Amino acid sequence: MALPRSIDVLKDIAIEYGVCVRPLAMRRTDLDTGLTEVIDLPCGATREDKCPPCAKKNRRLRQAQIREGWHRADEPLPGPEPATEAQKSLILFCAHLEFSRDEAVRAAQWDQVTDLDEAIREVEEAIAAEGLRGRVGPPHARDDEPDQRRKRSTKRRQDAPELPRRKVERRTVGKTYTAPDGSTYQPSMWLTLTLDSYGPVRPDGTPVNPARYDYRRAAWDAVHFPRLLDRFWQNL
Ligand SMILES: [Zn+2]
Repeated sequence: MALPRSIDVLKDIAIEYGVCVRPLAMRRTDLDTGLTEVIDLPCGATREDKCPPCAKKNRRLRQAQIREGWHRADEPLPGPEPATEAQKSLILFCAHLEFSRDEAVRAAQWDQVTDLDEAIREVEEAIAAEGLRGRVGPPHARDDEPDQRRKRSTKRRQDAPELPRRKVERRTVGKTYTAPDGSTYQPSMWLTLTLDSYGPVRPDGTPVNPARYDYRRAAWDAVHFPRLLDRFWQNL
């Protein structure tokens, strides 16, 4: 019994080298070649009693996050760059075309409208190529094709509580407070938000019933979540 178990020796060596002691085996199949291989993934434990190397790695990661991001006092992302002269002139040109189109519509010069629509489309392509995001106006619906856009109601539900009315700033960093002795404090907080379910899922996250799973709402939640969360924080 005085002899060490070989598995323990292996674990000790793994710890010494900073390698996960209880890796998860994952089978990966290359869909092109059909070749299957088993790869080891680190367990990613955060507790030392479960896996010292992974816990250490996670601790270092948290330290780096706190140092570089979570408690920073300046905005990490700069705003968009000012528009170049070329970009401005394209937007102006597009405005002129829209003005002419409007005049042509009023004068019922439909040939011209078609030409101008074509020109506007080309300019919009040029605007996108110049590196501008979005479009300046909604596309014009043609009279011969019915307007496909859905009319949606913007009326709020009456049973919902009033939304906070505080002005929301374009910032992502937290507020800092300065004590009388000059030291600054930046409060931090853990928040757990639970969104409503989109439908039952299997353990791997795939819907049990794809036909009834609310993909649409899941997608919208994902799209709006960062700004919604930002607004929540600031109102809080
Ligand atoms: Zn591990």
